[in-house]
Amino acid sequence: SLEAKGIHLSFGSNHVLRGIDLRVEKGRTASVIGPSGSGKSTLLRVMNRLIEPDEGDILLDGNSVLRENPDELRRRIGMVFQQFNLFPHKTVVENVSFALRKLRKLPKDQARSEALAQLDLVGLKHKADARPGNLSGGQQQRVAIARALAMKPEVMFFDEATSALDPELVKGVLALMADLAKGGMTMVVVTHEMGFSRNVSDTVTFMDRGVVVETGAPEQVFDSPRTDRLQRFLSDVL
Ligand code: ATP
Ligand code: MG
Repeated sequence: SLEAKGIHLSFGSNHVLRGIDLRVEKGRTASVIGPSGSGKSTLLRVMNRLIEPDEGDILLDGNSVLRENPDELRRRIGMVFQQFNLFPHKTVVENVSFALRKLRKLPKDQARSEALAQLDLVGLKHKADARPGNLSGGQQQRVAIARALAMKPEVMFFDEATSALDPELVKGVLALMADLAKGGMTMVVVTHEMGFSRNVSDTVTFMDRGVVVETGAPEQVFDSPRTDRLQRFLSDVL
């Protein structure tokens, strides 16, 4: 399991995370929803130690990750962002194999063959030698997912992975994420896609202004919200 406990974080005088608890069991998918500025991205960044929390702990399989080497942690937790962050001058397969060589220290040939296998899994082996700029946004995002998966992470984080995509490309990326979830990947998914949150995730956490307002099974959260804040949010987005 992956667990955030009592996380506090301020940027200057802006108290952005105000005692966040979030837990995802191994093999499960937790989605995180909430209005813009509520702290969702910041929470993911704290959970993989791109930012250190002011207070609180993050436990992966019961052990605090705050004592772990941050590079090793980022290998164990794969992250996919809204912007794909691919290297424009490298080919698709080089984008995927680069981290395998740097972080997993694989020799060139093995890194390439693992990268190709991973691209095959996301349906993009035929684009291996293309440059990212010649791919659609949806294809680029699938490359970014392949790159993260190539590290054999124990957990995958997605931060609005489909928000930058044209509407017709969103479906393919969500389908890939749903396949991963069904395949037993442990995932934390920050999303505006309420369909994904309801149908794919095992738990839904609603954040507002740096606190978890409600968390529970999708039916509970979507069909029987307990707070006005969640009711208002749902009526705005659904
Ligand atoms: P969105 O749905 O728009 O992506 P979010 O829930 O992901 O919003 P965050 O990006 O986590 O929200 O931002 C939460 C708060 O933290 C905002 O007030 C934001 O301005 C602030 N913030 C985020 N990153 C930084 C930073 N690097 N430095 C200073 N303030 C920041
Ligand atoms: Mg965000």
